[in-house]
This record gives sequence, structure tokens and C-alpha cells, in this order.
Amino acid sequence: MSRLRLGYQRFTSCCGCQLTLLNCEADLAAFDAAAEVVVFPMASSRPDDGGRLDVVLVEGSVSRPEELSALLQLRRRSEVLAAVGACALTGGVNSLAGTDRAALCEGVYGETAAEKTTFPPQSLSRFVRVDIELAGCPPERGELLRTVGALARGGLPALAEYPVCMECRCRENLCLLLEKGQPCLGAVTRAGCAALCPSFGVPCEGCRGEVAEANRAEQYRLLLEVGLPEGEVAARMKRFTGEEP
Ligand code: SF4
Ligand code: SF4
Repeated sequence: MSRLRLGYQRFTSCCGCQLTLLNCEADLAAFDAAAEVVVFPMASSRPDDGGRLDVVLVEGSVSRPEELSALLQLRRRSEVLAAVGACALTGGVNSLAGTDRAALCEGVYGETAAEKTTFPPQSLSRFVRVDIELAGCPPERGELLRTVGALARGGLPALAEYPVCMECRCRENLCLLLEKGQPCLGAVTRAGCAALCPSFGVPCEGCRGEVAEANRAEQYRLLLEVGLPEGEVAARMKRFTGEEP
């Protein structure tokens, strides 16, 4: 197994995805054997040597001009770019504030709002090619580690391409949506979290983003059927996709 030259960079985000990796204490020695950390400002004070990277993990959405130019640079110097977490994949919770940027900046910064050059938070794939998507808010530790391990072995990670409902059924949970009348989004959400929330009786919020070929129309109808008001259904369904249902 060759040792990867790896970067982990963040843009507009809460750092939760980076912490997910740092919280893998028991596996950090194996991680170190698989990857040499070249760029990871949150965890390492080692100066970036500016050389080629085998892989760069990127947390966060893009909402500032300097983030955009850093992203373009990272893309140019990296063989593989992995978007890590909901912010990087869809804009995430950062994009929930809406699109009226001027009003938002004014509300937060008052008179100095005009000096701000930020723009609405956007996914990495709006600007660059993304090779691997690690979904979640934050992503699963196992998925992060398996991805680095797979890349170090010259392969790609096997990521779930089915909905959370599959995992929920494997765990023999009662269906929160159909059997308990709760507003669960598992049917349209990408699996990989082992149905974490429904297994504790909490409806899925869709933090892993949308599964391919999601039946949005039926999900919308079912959420109305369990008694959610129309506005709430729409808000819930766009929370982690950034798109109207
Ligand atoms: S995806 Fe979630 S955990 Fe990761 S940076 Fe965004 S808000 Fe934080
Ligand atoms: S069950 Fe849904 S909200 Fe909970 S971790 Fe999984 S994808 Fe995210």
C-alpha cells in the first residue's frame, strides 16, 4: 500500500466533518500509515509544500472569492478531490438562510455589510469536478476511513447507492413514516449511516442528501398525508438538497 499525499481543507462550514476524522482516535495510526498529511490547517501546523496531492478532502460550501480560488488551486494540484459532508455536496445548512444576500448581510453586519464580498453558499461541484462524494452532516467515520484506505490501495470506495429505508428495514425498525405517521425522509435519502436516526425513533432529516432516482413526488404526498403543512413539507425536503421538491 503506497502512502497518499493528502490534504484536508475547509471552506464555509462548522468544522464538524474535519472533527469526524480527528475523532477516529483508535484508527489514526492506521490512517497515518495510509496517508501523509500535507495540508490540514485545522490539525497540523506543518507548512504546505505546495506540491502535488494524491487526494484532497474538502469540507464546506463555497461562499467567498478566496475560497473559490483556493478550491480551483486544490483541484489543479490533486489527483482525486472528495467533497466531504452536506455543505460541500449541496451547500448544506449554510445555504438555508435564503438567497437575499444583501438583506442577510445587512441583518448580520449592519452598516459594514457593503464591504462583504460573500455570495450564496454553493456546492463544490458548481465550480469543479468532484470525484468522490462523502455524504452526511457530518459524514460517517467508517466511510471516511474506508475511502482513504481504498485510495491508498489504488481503488475507489464502495458507497451506498440505495435509500436509508433499506438500512432501516435491515435493522427491523418499524417504519416511522408508514407505520407511525412521522415525517421521515428515509425513502429519498442516500444510505450509509445505518439508519442512525430512525433506529432511535427520530425521523430522518435527509442529511446525507438525495439518493439517485428519488421519488420526490411520492415523498411529498406522504408528508402531506401525515399532516405536515405544505410549507413545512417543502422546507423539510429542501433542507439538505437545496432544491425545491
Ligand atoms: S456538513 Fe454538517 S458537520 Fe460538515 S461542516 Fe457542514 S454543517 Fe458541519
Ligand atoms: S437517518 Fe437521515 S438524518 Fe439521520 S444520519 Fe442518516 S441520513 Fe442523516
